[in-house]
This record gives sequence, structure tokens and C-alpha cells, in this order.
Amino acid sequence: MVRVQLDETLLEDRIQELGRECFEEIRGQKLSLMDPKAYTGKLMNWAMEDPDFRVALFRFVDVLPGLTDSASVIRHAQAYFKPVAGRLPGLLQWGLDLDPESLRAKAAAALIRRQISSLGQQFIVGGTPAEAIRRLKKIHAKGMCTTVDLLGEACVSELESEVYLDRYLELLEALDGELPVNISVKLSALYSRSKPVGFDESVAVLKKRLRKIYSRAKEIGAFVYVDMEDTTKIDITLEVVQSLLMEDEFRGWADAGIVLQAYLRRTKVDAERILSWVEARGTPISVRLVKGAYWDTETILARLASWPIPVWQKKPESDRTYEDISRFLLSHADVLRPAFASHNLRSLVHSIAVAEQLELSLEAYEFQTLYGMADPIKSVFVKRGVTVREYAPIGDMLTGMAYLVRRLLENTANEGFIRSGFLEGESAEQLLAKPELDSSDTGREYLEVNPKEEFLNVPLLDFSIGSNRDGIREALGQLRQRREGDFPRILPFINGKPVKDCPHFIASDSPEETGFTLGTVGMVGPEHLEQAVEVLKGGFAKWRETNPALRARVLFKAADLIEVSRSELVALIILECGKPWIEADADVAEAIDFCRYYGKNALDLFKSENLCAYDGEEDHHFYEARGICGIISPWNFPLAIPCGMFSAALVTGNAVILKPAEQSTLVASRLFQIFLEAGMPADVGAFLPGEGETIGRSIVQHPEIDTLVFTGSKAVGMDIIREAAVLRKGQTHVKRVIAEMGGKNAIVVDDGADLDQAVKGVLYSAFGYAGQKCSACSRLYVHTSIHDRFIERLTTAVQSLVAGRASDPSVDLGPVIDDDAMKRINGAIASAGLEAVMGRLSADREAGRYIPATLFVEVDPDHKLLQEELFGPVLAAVRVDSFEEGIRLANAHEYGLTGGVFSRHPGHLQYAARHFRVGNLYLNRSCTGALVGRQPFGGFKHSGVGSKAGGPDYLKQFVLPRIVCENTLRQGFAPMEHDS
Ligand code: NAD
Repeated sequence: MVRVQLDETLLEDRIQELGRECFEEIRGQKLSLMDPKAYTGKLMNWAMEDPDFRVALFRFVDVLPGLTDSASVIRHAQAYFKPVAGRLPGLLQWGLDLDPESLRAKAAAALIRRQISSLGQQFIVGGTPAEAIRRLKKIHAKGMCTTVDLLGEACVSELESEVYLDRYLELLEALDGELPVNISVKLSALYSRSKPVGFDESVAVLKKRLRKIYSRAKEIGAFVYVDMEDTTKIDITLEVVQSLLMEDEFRGWADAGIVLQAYLRRTKVDAERILSWVEARGTPISVRLVKGAYWDTETILARLASWPIPVWQKKPESDRTYEDISRFLLSHADVLRPAFASHNLRSLVHSIAVAEQLELSLEAYEFQTLYGMADPIKSVFVKRGVTVREYAPIGDMLTGMAYLVRRLLENTANEGFIRSGFLEGESAEQLLAKPELDSSDTGREYLEVNPKEEFLNVPLLDFSIGSNRDGIREALGQLRQRREGDFPRILPFINGKPVKDCPHFIASDSPEETGFTLGTVGMVGPEHLEQAVEVLKGGFAKWRETNPALRARVLFKAADLIEVSRSELVALIILECGKPWIEADADVAEAIDFCRYYGKNALDLFKSENLCAYDGEEDHHFYEARGICGIISPWNFPLAIPCGMFSAALVTGNAVILKPAEQSTLVASRLFQIFLEAGMPADVGAFLPGEGETIGRSIVQHPEIDTLVFTGSKAVGMDIIREAAVLRKGQTHVKRVIAEMGGKNAIVVDDGADLDQAVKGVLYSAFGYAGQKCSACSRLYVHTSIHDRFIERLTTAVQSLVAGRASDPSVDLGPVIDDDAMKRINGAIASAGLEAVMGRLSADREAGRYIPATLFVEVDPDHKLLQEELFGPVLAAVRVDSFEEGIRLANAHEYGLTGGVFSRHPGHLQYAARHFRVGNLYLNRSCTGALVGRQPFGGFKHSGVGSKAGGPDYLKQFVLPRIVCENTLRQGFAPMEHDS
């Protein structure tokens, strides 16, 4: 990427020479943060010596500002530090042996707060701009410059975004006239609803808001950097900044900067693009080059999502990329004014050496460092005439906590320059060694497994990638043409052939627009069920004996076909069921996962096993299929749920009838066709759309259908269980029912919960797919000590949510499924007798079936809102006096499907794991979104009577275990085990 030739030998010699010179100057200087005479220094030193204490300390620092009462501070301190107490010096008098309610505990809590806040002050320049000015001036007096950042909690509502915007504008005013004004802005603070999937809308809103900051900055001669955050936000950030800076008002304005992160694999490409853009713009900008602050998060989240890891996995690779991009920036220093932000001596000296070879003046670039970190390095370069700018954050302890923890981690990280350079006395040679890339680090190694041998969840589409968004948009466009009356006619299928003599047809309308028909569906009559059973009986006899590997092959092929049709299926789910983009894609991904997971499990399940340990007898244990399975599915996971139930029945050797919900027949029909295309024998599967009351009931009662696999409401599920218990004429077996039913799921928010995380987690759990997931949260129990603060944030967050067309990727909630649902949910809201907090609607209320996100607060625990499953975007919150009371009330319901807890008290998390009795419990995350193989899904109590879907026991429900015992002893002779 470098366009000028450098003399590498000379360059390296100069780096080593200058590096050693600087190193001599900083060697032996103490970092004030680590001064062992000060209390904070002691803490940091213990943290480095004892990794368990380090984790405990940083986790405690993270939770402390959120704790409002002293007893809770002491309880949390005890929970974190007692396990490491034996190893700690007596100096750490943090009330570990005190009664949390005692007076002495109060004093201890106050001391703890003082001590941690002095740690915070090391890195935060002031609580408010006014408070910070004195310290900022001091920095300038030392010959350095500053760029000021505002710390804050994650922005969860539009009210919070407005406050942020005002704070940035106020910051400009407060600094104006006091010092040269230079601020750093985070776009995530300016728009709470910004998201990669809603790219265009996010960019439009952010431009409007950033424009205000740019305009004011330009008027007062201030400089504005836009910080770079995690990878999902990079494209939005670049688009916002670049397009704004091309507007007439700003095109000639040079006081704007952006940030590149060297730890990202993509950054070289971004740097090239920025250069082309700046050349077109004709006015320079500044580029701050950092290593990157979210390495762990980027790595962990990518791995959890099965996405390629976007950051270099080895530290020297980031260092090497840093050098490559440094050269690039310096080669274009006239238009990309570089600012090298690092505390790594080698990286900084490298920049100087390159600049010298390019004969650039000291004004052509600058260094940036963090306030409170690596002070000796700063003076070394100030002395050499380099401009050094301190990144100085403003904010209080509460809002600055995430920042503080990041700094603490960085100061004590094993691989960091600060630790190895200042504290562990590594040699100059090691610290100045030339960093290299490692060709084996592709970020994809862990993804390269064979899905048939090793199960890995298929990754969700990454909607920060433009082509993924385009794919769905195009597919939606094609489906929309069906409005012109060009919609398909979907027919039932028996023995591989369409059934043409349907007694009646129904139209499948999109819930997002009344009268928008996507297709018509032929419904079967009783005679079709009889025909299907006759065919399937014949098919079953062969399919049961088919090699399980061949049956599994059908599932693997179906998974591949679903993957190929992914965009088309996502679009169909969006329109037929009103599922927003991300959720519709997750539905498709789960279907693929089910096929691969069950396919792989079946290969193991059908291995016959000899249970007898002795010679002379063989006890063969094996499984065989049960017979004909009737699959009765709901509409809310229109692809994943029927696919999971169908594929499990099929791969275990059963013949299968699929009867989907009336509201999602088009999706189910595509699924059925995919199985036929994947090689399912025509006489092994039948697709029988029809009304539940008629054909559904007939399937349940049919004497020759052995297994009923149902997912849906409790009322229907219990009806099926009752009916199945009746032995009918001609029936040769007792029917088995696998029924997954309703939920009324609760989340408990504890007093030490991370409120950013809790608000976001609750919003997603309650309002993702408009609350129409069986796992959705509709009951919320909030600890009284944080109740008001939490509910205030949740309320403004709910008010910010937008319900509208699911096909519009910027909406937070789509429509509800049909008119009945609309009537039922609106009726419950109206009759609640309480004032509701409501979100917004972006679509015309009359156009489709729209209900805004709805929250009721201070609800009585016995209120009917907390009893019935509403299956809509309605959440009721209850105040509780203690965590235990929250768990008790959460348990006090007939259902037991999912549950959630937000807490940072380790003891409370353990308590919940034991006592919060639900099928799937989620700690510190949303309570929806179970993944096949990772969170096998299914509840108990009145929520279900099956083994968990997507789990190791699921397939066993579809088979009969058999034993064949053979006496192998003949005439005193038996084959010995070792003979075989
Ligand atoms: P539903 O019970 O109304 O319908 C489910 C299926 O049953 C449909 O195919 C319907 O046609 C059929 N049906 C209706 N009456 C029948 C009868 N008498 N005999 C036989 N079949 C009959 O449910 P729904 O509205 O489609 O789905 C929403 C419900 O499903 C909610 O209660 C939700 O909690 C539950 N659900 C549970 C899970 C889970 O895993 N536990 C997953 C998704 C949905």
C-alpha cells in the first residue's frame, strides 16, 4: 500500500538508534498509577501479581457505581473478594467480615467508594467540562494539546441521544475561549436506534445530528474527531463522516478527523478508500491511527456468532499493520494528516523514522496518548518537538466505568507495552523488535470444520455488509411483484404430487398490509388425510429400513438447499409473518442448524450396541422408527419449527405429515418442496395444509398416526394430549405426544445489574418480533433499589421503539400476525386499567396490524397482565424488595419456558441457576434466541412435555428402543469377545 520507496536498512537502524535513546530516558521512571506507596498503586500491583484478584477487582469496579446502598456495596465486595481473601494483604479492609447492614459496613462502603473513585480520577480529567478546564489547561501548560471526549452509558433511548447531542454542543461552548478546542465524538451516542441492518436510516439520522456539531465547531474554530467503535459501526461511521464532509458547508473545512484501527484486518482497505475520497474532496482531514480498544469484545463476539474474527489474533500483527498504515499515512501526510495514537515506543519511533526519511517536518504529524497513562513516554516526545495530544475524557464515575475498566485492563495486560516496558523491565531489544504478520492467522481457522462431523451453528447474516442487505432487498422486491395479482397457488402434496381437488382455498395475506395477498393455499379435506396415510404406510416400511446415513444425507442436502435460498426465504418470512429482517434470518439459520444437527445426531443414534459385558450372551440395543408422525406447527417460527420437527421425524425413519399453521403456509410449502428436492422419497412425506380445528384434529385422532409432534398454544396442546390418550378402533399402539406449548416468561433485574445491558436485554426479549416468541419476556421484576433509575431508562427506551412494516429494516417491531391477535392484544391493553407507556408507529395504523411497544409499570403481582399469555408487544413491570422475591414471583406461574436474570452478584447468579425453575434460564443476556446445539430449547410445567429441541435427547422421542438378546453358548462353546 505504500507508494514511496523507503530504505529499509536505514530505517530499521534509525528505529533502533532512536528507540534506544528514548528507552534510556524512560527506563526507570515510575508510572504514577503503579506507585507502590500509593493505595491505587498497591491495588494495581496486586492485580498484576494475582490474576484471580485482577478479575475480581475489575468486575467489582464495574459494578460499584451502580450500587446505591452501602449494604449492597459490602455484599458485592464480599461476593467478589472472599474467594481470594486468603491471598490478600491485610490492607484491603473492604468489610469482608462485616454484617452488611451494620454501621461499620456503612463506613467501609464509603471508604471503598473513595478508593475506587481515586482510581477513576487517574484517567478521567473531570466530572463536567467546567471541572475539567483547570486540568486541561495544566496539560497545555506542559506543552501538550488535548482532545476531549465525553464518557457515557450506552445510549438506549432517543431522550438519551438528545441529551448527548446537547452535551457535545455544551462542551464546545464550555471550552471555547479557554483553550484550543478539539473534541472527540462517538456516533453511537447520537442515535439510539442506529443499527447496521437499518443502514440508510441510521446514516440519515446521524448526519442530521453530527451536522449540528460540525456547524458549531466550524463557527468557533474547533476541531472534531469522530471516534471509531466496534466493527459493526465502521461503515455507518465512514459513510456519515464522508458524506457530510462533502456537503458544501464542510467541503473546505479541514478541522475534521476520523480514526483507523490497526488491529482490524480491513483497515488497510479503509485507508486506501479514505485517500481516494480525500483526493476527490480536495481538502485534507486528520486521521488518528490507533491499535484498537475492543480486541476481546471483537474476538469473543465474532466467535460466538461464527463470523470470521475481524481483528488480528496476535499482538505483533496489529503492531505490524500499525507500521504499514503509518507509512501509508505519512506518504500522504499533506491530505491525511496523521496522528499516531499509541503508547508503544517502537510504533511511535517507527513513525518518526519514516517521517525523517520522507523529509517531513515535525508539523506534518502528531502523537496522541491517553490522559493518565504512560506519562514518561509523553515527555520524551514533547522534548523532541513532536506535538503530543492527550485524549482526555470527561464524565462521572458511573458513566465512566466502562472506560475505566478498559484502561485498567490495558495497564495490566500481559502483552501491553506499559506492563512489559515499564514494570517488567524487558530489554530494549525485545521491546524494539520488528513486528511481523503470521500467515496462518486468517481469522477463519476455527470455522473450517466439516458440519457433518462437527456441528457448528450457521452464522447469521452480517448486515453490516452491504451485499447482505442488498440480497434481502432484492428478494423482497421480487415478492412484492405479487401485489399485481401474480401470486402463486400453493397446493397440498401427497406421494410427490400436488392435490388439485382441494375443497377450498384461503388467501395468505401479509400482516404488514391488509389486502396484500402473497398467495392462495389449497386446504385439504378428510379424504386427503386418508390418501396420505395409505401412501405413507407403504413408504414407512421401506424408509424405516433405509440406512440412517442415507436418511441423514437428505437432511444435509436440505440444509444446503435452504442455505442457497436464504434471501428468498428470509423475504418470504418477512412478508408472510411480519418478522423483521434479523429475526427472519435467524429463523432460516435455525432451520439449517436443525437439519445439520439432527443429521449428525442420527448417525450416532442408530449405532447398535451390545449391552452385555460377558461371553455367551449378546444383548443388542438399538432404535427403530415409530411409524407415521403428524407434525402440527405454529406460525411464529414459520420455517425453523416445522423444519426441526419434520427433519427429526424423517431422519429417524418415520413417515411424516406436515400440517403447518394457516398463517404461515407459504413458508411451510417451500420447506416441504426443499425436502422433496433434497431426496426425500415421495411416499415418505405429505404436505397437508388445513385448519387446525378440522384437519389438525383429524390427524390427532387418526388411529394409524403414531406420533404427534406439536408446537403451539397450551389450549391446543392439552387438547391434543387428551385426544391422544383415547384408544380408537384399529389403533395398534399408544400415541406419543411431543408438545411444546406456551410461555409467560419473566426477567429479574437485580440491584447490581448493568443497566445498559439490562435495558437492552429486556427490550430485545420483550419486543423482538413484537413479543410473538414463546420465549419472549412479558413479566419483569425489578429490585426496588434500582427500580426508578432502571424504569426511567426503560420507559424512554420503549418510547423510542418504532413499530412498522417488517420489510423496512429500520423498524424495531413488525406487525402482529392477524386481526384476532390485534383484537386480543389491544383488548388486554385497554382493559388493563393502568396507564401504558407506548412506543411509536412508523406505518399507518390502519394499513396493517400494528401495535406499538407497550410497557406497564408498578403493576400489582396478581394483575391479569401477569397471568395470561398475550403473545404481543406488552410488558408488565413489578417492583420487588429483594432478589429472592423477584425469583419467587417469577416462578409463581403455570408456565416454565424461559427466564432471565440481570445481576452482577455471583451468589445471586448461582441462586438463580438453582431456584429459577424454567427450561431455559439466561443470565445477563436476553431470554430469547436459543441456538441449536448450544441452548437446546423447551420448557416444563405447562410449557411443554418434550425433550429439548436442538438437544442431544430430542431424536430419541421419535424412535422405539429395542433389545435383541441372543444366547451364543452352543455345546459348551461360545465366540469370545476377543475372537470377533
Ligand atoms: P396454535 O395452538 O393456535 O396453533 C398451532 C397449530 O395447531 C396450528 O398449526 C394450528 O392449525 C393447529 N391447531 C389448532 N387447533 C387445533 C386442534 N384442535 N387440533 C389440532 N391442531 C390444531 O398456536 P399458534 O398461534 O400457531 O402459535 C402460538 C403459540 O405457540 C403460543 O402459545 C406460543 O407460546 C406457542 N409456541 C411455543 C413454542 C415452544 O417451543 N414452546 C414455540 C413457538 C410457539
